[in-house]
Amino acid sequence: MSESSQRRIIIFDTTLRDGEQSPGFSMNLAEKLELAQALVDLGVDVIEAGFPIASPGDFEAVQAIAGKVRGSTICGLARCRDEDIDRAWQAVQKAEHPRIHVFLATSAIHREFKLKMGKEEIIQRAVASVRRAVGYCPDVEFSPEDAARTEIDFLCQVVEAAIAAGATTVNIPDTVGYATPAQMHNVISALVRRVPNIGKAVISVHCHNDLGMAVANSLAAVEAGAGQIECTINGIGERAGNCSLEEVAMALRTRHDVYHAQTRIQTQRLVPTSRLLTSITGMHVQRNKAIVGRNAFAHEAGIHQDGMLKERTTYEIMRPEDVGFTMSDLVLGKHSGRAALADRARHLGYNLSGEQLNKVFDGFKVLADKKKEIYDADLAALIEQQSRTVAEHWTLESYDLSSGSGRTPEVTLTVRHGDQVQTTRMAAGDGPIDAVFLAIGKLTGVVVTCKDFRVHSVTVGQDAQGEVTVEVEYGGQLYRGRGVSTDSVEASARAFLNAINRIAAVSVSADRPAGK
Ligand SMILES: [Zn+2]
Repeated sequence: MSESSQRRIIIFDTTLRDGEQSPGFSMNLAEKLELAQALVDLGVDVIEAGFPIASPGDFEAVQAIAGKVRGSTICGLARCRDEDIDRAWQAVQKAEHPRIHVFLATSAIHREFKLKMGKEEIIQRAVASVRRAVGYCPDVEFSPEDAARTEIDFLCQVVEAAIAAGATTVNIPDTVGYATPAQMHNVISALVRRVPNIGKAVISVHCHNDLGMAVANSLAAVEAGAGQIECTINGIGERAGNCSLEEVAMALRTRHDVYHAQTRIQTQRLVPTSRLLTSITGMHVQRNKAIVGRNAFAHEAGIHQDGMLKERTTYEIMRPEDVGFTMSDLVLGKHSGRAALADRARHLGYNLSGEQLNKVFDGFKVLADKKKEIYDADLAALIEQQSRTVAEHWTLESYDLSSGSGRTPEVTLTVRHGDQVQTTRMAAGDGPIDAVFLAIGKLTGVVVTCKDFRVHSVTVGQDAQGEVTVEVEYGGQLYRGRGVSTDSVEASARAFLNAINRIAAVSVSADRPAGK
């Protein structure tokens, strides 16, 4: 193999920072820890765990991840301000490999309107901040924000100064998603050619997807010499999102002949990791999403199916099992034992402790009574439901409902709150689900506004489980809830209670001030 085919690209995941700060994707501490561990298992090199100065919740999460998660570099974001850098270091210092990432806008439009600073002042601020961070830890990344719209001469000057001050990674963000692949290639090539000390740092890219070009722009940067890609699971992130990790990793692998570069990504973990994020946030990826979408490997057209049967490679450039789709879908039934369940769970990427396995197995037996065939997706939903980490202040005991066209539904609902069991009976609402929601509001005393309500089928068939996700507003904040059941009214009640439990968990454990 030639020198160039050995080139390794560093995968920097910012799902927990850029992704988490976008609307609908907020996660609690336990969820962030779970996802961080999944990113390590996926083979991510650097995890950007958050923006520690943004809020006490962010700080706590970065600190917890740095303290507990081993196997990847843990990075905290900071503006070029002393208090930001100090706070970032406090958060990441317990990491096995800590990194501080400082950023400062450099484009003319940002200099003039946002920072009101001249070029010299920008360079001085960047240098001082990189030096402060280097005083804490040797691994320092510097980002000139909005680099893709910064004059190239000035960008070269800033980058050179940051490297001279000790930055070991220089990241070129296309903050507004405006770059094109050829332009990105030119910018990176110019840095390689014109910055005399560029060999002392890794060049990174951070591309946004506003024009759908984040992956293409990142790959163009790699061709021009970038050694790190910043990306997220399912491509989540501000606005239209970031470069999607699964797409860029599979493009590098599948077209190794073009890019001559490798990553440490365990590609069979891509689908399980994507599903974990979906289950935590309740935000599904579109069916035709490359690599991890439900249809990504489905060949419906007859002519394709015929070709596939004769020779798979006629229409298939990747194998579904390479990205973690399992071939056998129909697996378990009523008579399957604990060992078979544990084995299947392992196959899906879940390592259950003895106690977790017991809980999941109990749930499995209940489900197998209602549903003949338990598919992988059913099992995943069950495991996620059993291991979801929101404290359950309120749980559903039972409901009884009568409704029909043209009359007000009547509902009797019983919930458990700690040791207490409470029941209410009422006639209200526009339909059965509305009636259940109103009854839950009355019992819990938590009055919320429902902003979104969705029902998905977890698998196929008449007895398929329904997954309900709700988004509710309480005290000006949005909260999600998720419930799964073969009965869609019960799934709705569970989802609604799950949202109320999240609200309760937040008001118990102090708050996250708005704004970042
Ligand atoms: Zn970004």
